[in-house]
Amino acid sequence: MAKIKTIGLLTSGGDAPGMNAAIRAVTRSAIYNGIKVKGIYRGYKGLVDDEIVEFQTQNVSNIIHHGGTILKTARCKEFRTVEGRQQAWENIKKHDIDALVVIGGDGSLSGARQFASEFDFPIVGLPGTIDNDLSGTDHTIGYDTALNTIMWCVDRIRDTASSHARLFFIEVMGRESGFLALNGALATGAEAAIIPEISTEHDQLAELIERGFRKSKNSSIVLVSESPVTGGAMGLAERVRKEYPQYDVRVTILGHLQRGGSPTALDRILASRMGAAAIDALLEGQRNVMIGDDDEKMIYVPFSKAIAGKKPIDYDLLETLRRLSI
Ligand code: ADP
Repeated sequence: MAKIKTIGLLTSGGDAPGMNAAIRAVTRSAIYNGIKVKGIYRGYKGLVDDEIVEFQTQNVSNIIHHGGTILKTARCKEFRTVEGRQQAWENIKKHDIDALVVIGGDGSLSGARQFASEFDFPIVGLPGTIDNDLSGTDHTIGYDTALNTIMWCVDRIRDTASSHARLFFIEVMGRESGFLALNGALATGAEAAIIPEISTEHDQLAELIERGFRKSKNSSIVLVSESPVTGGAMGLAERVRKEYPQYDVRVTILGHLQRGGSPTALDRILASRMGAAAIDALLEGQRNVMIGDDDEKMIYVPFSKAIAGKKPIDYDLLETLRRLSI
């Protein structure tokens, strides 16, 4: 394989706190190894539209503590088409880019995999998503910060919830994954988590009510994953009003609050280690892999594994939550 002299770097899809720390780490690590860095703005959109600028170490100064992404991010319809990807390829050649580092979620890595196979081009991915839903890595960049934000918000809701006798449904993000709801519930001492991993045949709301919550408490907090499978917090509240009208139910949807804010130490460290590992991977001749963490170690996860199937939750955590909410 030809020596890599220049890499392109982009953030794509949903933003996540810690993406800036990853941008900094990739850029500095590349320059340290004598590799040029081209920053590509707005994800694949900037690759198609040629929004590409050379980065120096100072371009990534003072960003480690900021949420969002200085490279901006976008969803790009053109990149889903053969013509769009051909245009992106023209710009890769125009800027002498020898490899790409893509920071994003499963959609972004699916796009990377497609592009890499079409043009036989080396790409390394970093898992950047608050949802923690990529397989082959224990954690994704942004997940810990989002979890801490959820904890901060729920603690405040608890103060008001316990002043009234109410059932609070608090909706959190996570797409089709219950990591944020389940671990958020554990971290806040919530009554339960209603998550999409539990089959629709099992009525999680009925189980919650039948378990007799609030018998010994005067308020209850339940974390709900946003998902058509759970019905979301609104859908569940609607059901309570119809089926269990004796309960005074309230809904809070945390929404985009969960994406923002300064990344936690864990996310900054993870992003820094993964960013450096991305450059190591390219120097070792790796291609089409996502950097993952496994038991504190950096590992290379083939794209096919990272985006295939659903990352399983730990059902023991659900049992622990049940046990602790008596
Ligand atoms: P995330 O990376 O957060 O999961 P998306 O699912 O929105 O976000 O994906 C981000 C972008 O990745 C899309 O807007 C699109 O440009 C690109 N993408 C996603 N899936 C594919 C695919 N199968 N083929 C080509 N590009 C894709």
